[in-house]
Amino acid sequence: MYPCLSIGLYIHIPFCASKCPYCDFHSFPGREYLMAAYVEALTSELDLRLRRSPDAQADTLFWGGGTPTLLPDSSIHSLGLFLQDCFPAGWKEFTVEANPGTVTPRKLEILLEIGVTRLSLGVQSFLDRSLNSLGRIHTRADSLNAFRAARASGFTRISLDLIYGLPDQSLSLWEDDLREAVSLQPEHISAYCLTLEPGTPFYGRWKRGELRLPDEEASVAMYEKTLETLERVRYRQYEISNFALAGEECKHNLRYWRGGPYWGIGAGAHSYFGGARSWNKKKLESYLSDLREGRLPVGGREWLPKEKRLGEAIMLGLRTLSGVDLQDLFRSNEVTPDGRYDTLIERFRAQGLLLYDPPNLRLTQKGFLVSDTIFCEFL
Ligand code: SF4
Repeated sequence: MYPCLSIGLYIHIPFCASKCPYCDFHSFPGREYLMAAYVEALTSELDLRLRRSPDAQADTLFWGGGTPTLLPDSSIHSLGLFLQDCFPAGWKEFTVEANPGTVTPRKLEILLEIGVTRLSLGVQSFLDRSLNSLGRIHTRADSLNAFRAARASGFTRISLDLIYGLPDQSLSLWEDDLREAVSLQPEHISAYCLTLEPGTPFYGRWKRGELRLPDEEASVAMYEKTLETLERVRYRQYEISNFALAGEECKHNLRYWRGGPYWGIGAGAHSYFGGARSWNKKKLESYLSDLREGRLPVGGREWLPKEKRLGEAIMLGLRTLSGVDLQDLFRSNEVTPDGRYDTLIERFRAQGLLLYDPPNLRLTQKGFLVSDTIFCEFL
């Protein structure tokens, strides 16, 4: 008997009720008529992949988007049953991202029935004015109702997504959001700083001076307030933007940060496997037609040389609070330890951005604030 090949399985659901003006994710509003065909294509893609790698076992599953909970109940149910057939041994974790405006008691019941173990609620803010400016379809009341309904239906692992650095947001408004999130006692909280992605309506408005955002100093104060507030009530930071009660870290995302293999299923989804990265076609129609004709919808593939794999592994690992074991990464990527990072590490260490306790390398809190600049240097 062959040993199982443990992978993470990400399933991309690219449908949204409307497009939020800050979002550059691969998601579309107004394509609901393609949902049934899309779910069928997802099953075909997974089926094709499993024929090629029959020993693959998804230990962690993650439905992201887009808005997975926009799918009709019948589609969620059939996709879930298909996954149970594919992986009869079960999984360690199955997360579904849910938009509070789309959660119903029946949907929650179906999610539990198909083996979902973790719900990630995209709350973003508890202030209706902020939700409105973000173009979200839900309200504060929807978030509270969705959270309570999820608990009542039996979800024991719930994560709340929040965003800070919002238009016209003050430090005290952000504190209110944090306080409200904590009062619900979720197992996990993600707190992201709003980023302006070129090509989005928010970016255009900001360029034209029509969007008033907190400046850098205010954003840093919000980040520091997040650490202080959440750690005080036992949410431990384990990644730049992620906080969890003990043992409630997201296993699927930890797999990414530790450089583990994963398959991404769905339009535009990325996979990393055996030192190669590949990605699916982004255009919905091309994705669907390839699978209708029995072909994997591969958009591109890239073999990563050992040195590049090492740099990426360091970059991903440094996102976590525990950092990386440098010696181990050299070994696992088959690169001879040659001191190539010594000067870089010394420079960042002297600036108080990195801690190096050989072989462990990790960012300081000051380092987290400029992490993108540091990551670039390791690539
Ligand atoms: S709901 Fe999420 S994925 Fe959809 S447009 Fe808004 S931010 Fe993007």
